[in-house]
Amino acid sequence: METHKGDNQGNYGSSAPNLVNRQTKANDTVINVNGIKIGGEEIVIIAGPCAVENREQLLETAKAVYSGGANILRGGAYKPRTSPYSFQGLGEEGLKYLSEARKETGLPVVTEVMDTRQMELVCNYTDIIQIGSRSMHNFPLLKEAGKCRKPVLFKRGLMATIDEYLNAAEYILSEGNDQVVLCERGIRTFETYTRNTLDLCAIPVLKRMSHLPVIVDPSHGTGHSWLVPAMTKAAIAAGADGIMVEVHNKPLDALSDGQQSLYPEEFVQLVKDIEKIAQAIGRKLYHHKPSLV
Ligand code: PEP
Ligand code: MN
Repeated sequence: METHKGDNQGNYGSSAPNLVNRQTKANDTVINVNGIKIGGEEIVIIAGPCAVENREQLLETAKAVYSGGANILRGGAYKPRTSPYSFQGLGEEGLKYLSEARKETGLPVVTEVMDTRQMELVCNYTDIIQIGSRSMHNFPLLKEAGKCRKPVLFKRGLMATIDEYLNAAEYILSEGNDQVVLCERGIRTFETYTRNTLDLCAIPVLKRMSHLPVIVDPSHGTGHSWLVPAMTKAAIAAGADGIMVEVHNKPLDALSDGQQSLYPEEFVQLVKDIEKIAQAIGRKLYHHKPSLV
C-alpha cells in the first residue's frame, strides 16, 4: 500500500481490527450476489423504496428501477421507525412481495433484519441481509449475521466512529462470514439542515483501512431527494463501490421517507450522470442485466 512521508495514514491500517484489516488481506474483497459483483471494477446500483408498502407499489417501483439500470432491489419489510406508531413494515408479507419482484425483474434483493429471531426467515427470502444503522451496536444480531451464509449490507451507526464501525464489522467476520459490504449513510452532527451529515471522507478512509467494499446511501445521508444526485455523484467520485438510493413510484404517497425518495425519472437521469463520473475515474457501471423472467 502506498504511504506518504509526513502523514500518519499508515496508522489507519494498523488500527483496524484483524479480519477486516487491509494489512491482513491486501486484495479488495469482491462479493458476488447472483452474478453481480460488489467491490469490483463496476459500480453497483441498489435502488428501491424505503419500505415495501404493498404489492403494486413494490412491483411498479422494481420494474422502474430495473429499467433505469439498478442492479439490486432494496425494500424494507421490517422498518426501524422513530415512533412506534409509524408504519412498521409488512413483515413476512413484504418479504413475499420482494420475492415476487425478484422473479419479475431478475434483480437480487436486499432487506433489513432487525432481530435475531427474524434472521432465519429473512435469510430464506433475501439475497443480501441488511443490518441498519440503529442495529450497528446490536452484537447478538451481528453474531447471528456472521453465522448465516448470506452477504451482509452493514450500515454505519448514526453515532459511530469509523473505529467503532470496523470493530462492529469484525463481529460478523469473526463468526465466519466475510461477505460484508460497508455502507456510509451519514452521521449525526450539530447540523440539522440535512437529516444526517454524509461523511464522504469515510469512503477513502474505510477503503484504506479495510479490504471490504464500501457503498454510500445518499438518501438517508441527506434526507432530501434534491440533494441525492449531487451526493451520489460525489460518492462515486470519492471511490465508492456502489450506491443505495431510495426510489418510490409515488414519493408523495410514501409511508416512509417520501421526502428523500427519487421519482423513477429522477433515478433514470441519475444513473446517466453516474455513468459519466464512473468513466472519468476509470470505472464503469454494471451493464450485466439479469434476464427478465
Ligand atoms: C434503510 O436503509 O432502510 C434504513 C432504515 O437506513 P438506516 O439504517 O441507514 O437508517
Ligand atoms: Mn428509508
